Amino acid sequence: MSATKETLGFQAEVKQLLQLMIHSLYSNKDIFLRELISNASDAADKLRFEGLSDAALYENDPDLNIRVAFDREARTLTITDNGIGMSRQEVIDHIGTIAKSGTREFFSQLSGDQKKDAALIGQFGVGFYSAFIVADRVTLTTRRAGLTAEHGVRWESAGAGDYTLETVEKPTRGTEIVLHLREGEDEFLSDWKIKSVIRTYSDHITLPIVMKKTEWKDGVETPTDEDETVNRASALWARAKKDVTDDEYTEFYKHVAHDFEPPLAWSHNRVEGKQEYISLLYVPSHAPFDLYDREKRHGIKLYVRRVFIMDDAEQLMPQYLRFVRGVIDSADLPLNVSREILQSSRDIDAIKNGSVKKVLGLLEDMAENQPEKYVEFWKAFGKVMKEGPGEDFANKEKIAGLLRFASTHTDTDAQVVSLKDYIGRMKEGQSAIYYITADSFAAAQHSPHLEIFRKKGIEVLLLSDRVDEWLTGNLHEFDGKPLKSVAKGGLDLGELEDEAEKTAQKEAEGNLKPLVERIKTTLGERVKDVRVTHRLTDSPACLVTGEGDMSANLERLLKAAGQAAPTVKPTLEINPTHALVTRLNSESDEDRFKDWANLLFEQALLAEGGQLDDPASFVRRLNGLLAMLPS
Ligand code: ADP
Repeated sequence: MSATKETLGFQAEVKQLLQLMIHSLYSNKDIFLRELISNASDAADKLRFEGLSDAALYENDPDLNIRVAFDREARTLTITDNGIGMSRQEVIDHIGTIAKSGTREFFSQLSGDQKKDAALIGQFGVGFYSAFIVADRVTLTTRRAGLTAEHGVRWESAGAGDYTLETVEKPTRGTEIVLHLREGEDEFLSDWKIKSVIRTYSDHITLPIVMKKTEWKDGVETPTDEDETVNRASALWARAKKDVTDDEYTEFYKHVAHDFEPPLAWSHNRVEGKQEYISLLYVPSHAPFDLYDREKRHGIKLYVRRVFIMDDAEQLMPQYLRFVRGVIDSADLPLNVSREILQSSRDIDAIKNGSVKKVLGLLEDMAENQPEKYVEFWKAFGKVMKEGPGEDFANKEKIAGLLRFASTHTDTDAQVVSLKDYIGRMKEGQSAIYYITADSFAAAQHSPHLEIFRKKGIEVLLLSDRVDEWLTGNLHEFDGKPLKSVAKGGLDLGELEDEAEKTAQKEAEGNLKPLVERIKTTLGERVKDVRVTHRLTDSPACLVTGEGDMSANLERLLKAAGQAAPTVKPTLEINPTHALVTRLNSESDEDRFKDWANLLFEQALLAEGGQLDDPASFVRRLNGLLAMLPS
């Protein structure tokens, strides 16, 4: 044993991942080859990129390729690349630990229920570890390009609790992975089988995947000295659309997105003119586990004339489209383009604008022609799309057209109503698009503010995602119609009310003037104002905020997140037709009036999801009044 050989333990999550993966992915085991070839291809891309500034990294071996070989006697399958390779530290960091951000959160979601967990593992992506589906021992030997031969590293593991690491001589740069196949996995010792797996899953890989030709000798399949390239080995995105099949698009997606599931849709474009580039953009079918993680990886890959430049080029997609995956290959950018250059490049802005239009167009098309698919899309990415109007001013109206909401029309929490649908259902004389925001769907759905709207059959959008406050703060109209919160400002239904209603309201306001004043004096600092309302049919009272004020829901969200938010004093509105209000109007006992008035305010606050400053006093008041009921 070499003196430098050491045994290291896997990170706890790796152990868990291996266990889960071997069981849950067994029925789909061929994919291990795709994963290893995908890594080899990434390693070659990295070498090409680093080689741009340091040609010595090629070590006089410029022909990048991936080799796959099998040995029947030894029962091994070997995948070799001459890509960038890894240093000892990189092996420790990448193979043996999961460096993905959000890993811990991911593992905390696992339930122990194999079926459910198997679906999750696909979202997480398993990469290198998938080798253990078919191998009971994996030996990885690697050397980083540019380091000398004695800096080779050998990693070996049986996929249980630990792995060994030793320093070895490795004359050639790159990585060699030997899979010692498990009992019963002999099918991977067949030329035909391996080639068919490669052609199915890895045909799109840009560099040649090379195997030895075989011949049959005495009934045994034996490799000859002749090489054969198994895949097509050309950049898929550079091919004409008509020459790429759906299966090829799908497999390419799995490679660029590190996703196990097929994409929902894609858009492949060759753009000519001022900027010349090719884009192949995909919309995934599910949200990645790190959608809200700012450090997440795997966005758009940037290429310049087929040379890989960088992963996750965030300058190429706005934040609200961060779920889009794919490739952009520019014909004009310099090869030495850096992230810093990208940030201030007009060419990049032009490419970004063009690409955003393509994605929005793809989504519009899906919404129009494949509504069921669009529902799936919205479930996965709706909350992120709602960031759009605040981020992308130029495309605001387009994005607004793609938004979907829950509403009183369907009265379920399914977000399926578009602003266009809403406008199509507006009542005669209705001039605004009405919505309510609350911190849960139930609170929105049952809000007292909706009573008059329900009575008159006027639709109200029910918004209960956190991002909705941000959305309504940035989206003030659609198709010329203002968006209006039903919980802000005085209610003015304009032409939606008839003359008789208006007269009755005036009369009620006149009659209750003294009561309103009395409540106002009693509540003092708790309210900004008290007034009679006509928006309520069943509830005795509700709270509203001023037209320009922060909504009560947003104030609560901000405070819950520990952020500074001004305390907005609400206006108490009372329902002149409610028995409690009538009762209060005739209350002569001053103490009892105080209790009633405060209760009216406090229950209105509770009904809209607010919290009481002094719950004990509320309970005391309530009990005092309950005790007065005749037994
Ligand atoms: P992922 O590919 O999703 O990052 P993997 O578990 O497949 O996850 O690989 C982890 C990391 O190990 C890779 O990101 C890469 O840095 C490194 N790696 C894996 N295979 C190779 C290889 N053949 N050559 C160089 N580095 C590799």
